[in-house]
Amino acid sequence: MSQLFVGLTGGIGSGKTQVSDLFTAKGVSVIDADILARELVAPGMPALASIRDKFGSEIINQAGQLDRRRLRDRVFSCPEDKDWLDNLLHPLIRKELMRQAQAASSAYAVLAVPLLIENGLHSLMDRVLVIDVDPHLQLARVVQRDQVSEQQVRRIIAHQATREARLALADDVINNNGELSELAPQVDKLHEKYLKLAKINVKA
Ligand code: ATP
Repeated sequence: MSQLFVGLTGGIGSGKTQVSDLFTAKGVSVIDADILARELVAPGMPALASIRDKFGSEIINQAGQLDRRRLRDRVFSCPEDKDWLDNLLHPLIRKELMRQAQAASSAYAVLAVPLLIENGLHSLMDRVLVIDVDPHLQLARVVQRDQVSEQQVRRIIAHQATREARLALADDVINNNGELSELAPQVDKLHEKYLKLAKINVKA
């Protein structure tokens, strides 16, 4: 069982995937909330049946999978529906995240959660690790990666916690304003620190 839970977060395109991969390469268990969220609504899962009952069978595509775009359109145009969906999925995601973190075999576990702060999950972590990036770089990187307009990215950023709010809750910060190669030395340092902390943070 992991003795230390590190919540890794950051805004869209801040570099969470790049940093997660570096922790994984060190043999650290990384639990990805986005992957969990997708697995929870896979065909045959009870949450998918609840969503179908609520929104109708047109929310399921011909392959029996959730039509994410259609669901997103529905919940963005109706705040009550968004609340309903959040109330269904958030407790399930939280439970599964913590279950997997507790089952992880590495000395510490990294829980990669894009909306860690927005959804109040930071209080369940031993450390909060924020990937910080200059907003101009963030915008440019997402536009290039996703081939979307700056306006679309700005809209997403506006729905996320502010850079200041994230940094205010950070125990550790990785600066991703430089080259990709500048991430590994920062992860190396944190890895040593987390191994030490895990030794003294023995959970019951
Ligand atoms: P999301 O929130 O959308 O899941 P993310 O936080 O996981 O994104 P990444 O996918 O790791 O972010 O990075 C966003 C994009 O920016 C990717 O295309 C990545 O290759 C690129 N990128 C990340 N860091 C750097 C860097 N230091 N220099 C250049 N490109 C970078």
